[in-house]
Amino acid sequence: MGATESGPLGILGGTFDPIHFGHLRLAEEARGALGLARVRLIPAGQPPHREPPRCSGEDRLAMARLAVAGNPGLEVDDGEVRSTERSYTLHTLQRLRTELGPARPLVLILGADAFQGLPTWHRWEALFDLAHIAVANRPGSAPHARRWPGILSPALEAACRGRMANSPAALAAAAAGRVMPFDMTPLAISASLVRDLLSGGASARYLLPDSVLDYIGLHHLYRPS
Ligand code: ATP
Repeated sequence: MGATESGPLGILGGTFDPIHFGHLRLAEEARGALGLARVRLIPAGQPPHREPPRCSGEDRLAMARLAVAGNPGLEVDDGEVRSTERSYTLHTLQRLRTELGPARPLVLILGADAFQGLPTWHRWEALFDLAHIAVANRPGSAPHARRWPGILSPALEAACRGRMANSPAALAAAAAGRVMPFDMTPLAISASLVRDLLSGGASARYLLPDSVLDYIGLHHLYRPS
């Protein structure tokens, strides 16, 4: 096994309905800021927290694969789309632990908006036993992480106490359990914005890869309902 196979693995879950440059920059910048060997993008099958996605799991997987093509630092995992269960992050991390063993550092990457909602997730406190959590400051949805004490719920703040890390070395030194904020280039792109533009007949070009837009056009996705 080379260094790449044993270094920290980033995990980026999401609906990816569709995948866009906000997701891709998040993965790419997390790789650099957190010292990750690779980032694995995991499109959700049936996300428990939200409306069903507009597109099928197959289409969202295909778009994610097109988006990461040519970048050896990014990969796509079809485990949640293939599963008939609801997509709980806890179960995905348990599956990855089985696949990768107890020692490999796993780093769950979340946008700050997703992180603030963590206490609503299924058995959220158990996630810290399975992975580190890295939180990207996302424009428009959360103040900078340095001001966390003011914005986190008391339960989340308590769960983070004693876990804060500020260097990639701290993540590489343990398999799980640390929380590390990092800044990313602000990109106010969301999948909802892309869907709204497309269903209104407007251009979404330069918000997501051309290859993904071509797929959307070819398969007539995100048309007005
Ligand atoms: P939607 O608009 O449908 O809610 P989304 O664009 O927020 O979708 P998700 O698939 O829900 O995309 O997001 C997956 C992860 O990517 C989440 O952790 C989210 O915070 C993060 N993310 C999405 N867009 C950005 C962005 N522009 N900058 C930083 N993080 C982002």
